[in-house]
Amino acid sequence: MTLIPTIDQEACCAHGDCVEMAPGAFALEETATVIGSAPDADLLAAAEACPALAISLTDAATGEVIFP
Ligand code: SF4
Repeated sequence: MTLIPTIDQEACCAHGDCVEMAPGAFALEETATVIGSAPDADLLAAAEACPALAISLTDAATGEVIFP
């Protein structure tokens, strides 16, 4: 499975947990942004770690929302 992350900019409160969990995928400025990719397990860990539930993960093949 290939997961595509998106970040709800309104919900993100810039804790930076996602950058620690998947630094290849996320960067932090005023809010977090998607800058690249990371292994699915890292993306899932980042999404689960986000205290604002701002990260959504979509299956690239099916379009199904995997998280939340
Ligand atoms: S962990 Fe969530 S709230 Fe924190 S910077 Fe990343 S997306 Fe924003």
